[in-house]
Amino acid sequence: MIVVLKKGTPADEVNRISEWLTHFDLEVNPIVGQETTILGLVGDTTAIDKNTLMLNSYVDKVLKVQEPFKRANRQLHPEDTIVDIGGIKVGGSKLAIMAGPCSVESEAQICEIAERVKADGATILRGGAWKPRSSPYSFQGLKAEGLELLNLAKKQTGLPIVTEITNPANIEYFLDKVDCFQVGARNMQNFDLLAELGRTNKPVLLKRGFSNTMKEFLMSAEYILAGGNEDVILCERGIRTHETYTRNTLDVSAVPALKRLSHLPVVVDPSHAAGIYWMVEPLAMAAIAAGADGLMIEVHNDPEHALSDGAQSLTYENFHKTMEKIRAIASVVGREV
Ligand code: PEP
Ligand code: MN
Repeated sequence: MIVVLKKGTPADEVNRISEWLTHFDLEVNPIVGQETTILGLVGDTTAIDKNTLMLNSYVDKVLKVQEPFKRANRQLHPEDTIVDIGGIKVGGSKLAIMAGPCSVESEAQICEIAERVKADGATILRGGAWKPRSSPYSFQGLKAEGLELLNLAKKQTGLPIVTEITNPANIEYFLDKVDCFQVGARNMQNFDLLAELGRTNKPVLLKRGFSNTMKEFLMSAEYILAGGNEDVILCERGIRTHETYTRNTLDVSAVPALKRLSHLPVVVDPSHAAGIYWMVEPLAMAAIAAGADGLMIEVHNDPEHALSDGAQSLTYENFHKTMEKIRAIASVVGREV
């Protein structure tokens, strides 16, 4: 961090500001010019609030040299992180395909969907048991029973499970029943949940909030990493824009940007971005072309009667066709499925 002081700042004021900054365990290097004095700060400046510093009438500008996210930052960790979800690698040359229904609805439903998506190349089973719905009157998920059913499907197919957790109080209960925690868009800034997940040793798939910037997204990842859990996967799932034709706007640019800023794997959920099934395939193709490490796609045995997100769910047939397209794009960008 660099603090630029105003022209003519008296020497005793320069000393007073420097002295205050040393309380943050920083090395303060003053560069005294003819007109301007600059303070170069070396060390961890994350605890310093730029705006508080600006309250000092002698401070002209505060420039951040490094991003506030340290552990998620590629500069400090140049090699790609590869996360292992129950033996399936996310972030390597092989794409991770997570597929399944929005919500687990019954044993027959989840087991059949798991078999079918596996046959078409999915390597991880998704399915919501605790559903954070926008309306309290919508289906809220089968909760504990849903987790049991996911485990039956896992037993039958061998597919590891990713499912959403909404409350830190449930972590203990989830621990031996899931292979990867999912933090939904609505909870991206539930900092208590993130911090608690940081204390576990299970991978976390973190979805981007509807209205969050990429830097806020990476700061949320930082919460998990700061607790010692290094297995974080970033998931772009569409953001809110002025456009209403689609449910959200898929921010394809987030894929190369996040991969440049961070070493963490990046996957894309085209289903919640599109909100409508026929747009899932082109968005999935765009995501892989842009360098995503995998996809999360909603697939349902009977979308018309799905208890949640039926409109955006792919039928088995559409999932099959989409996987063919994904394979074609993957080969162009040097990835395998
Ligand atoms: C989901 O994956 O079913 C879900 C609720 O997604 P999001 O948090 O991205 O809305
Ligand atoms: Mn859904």
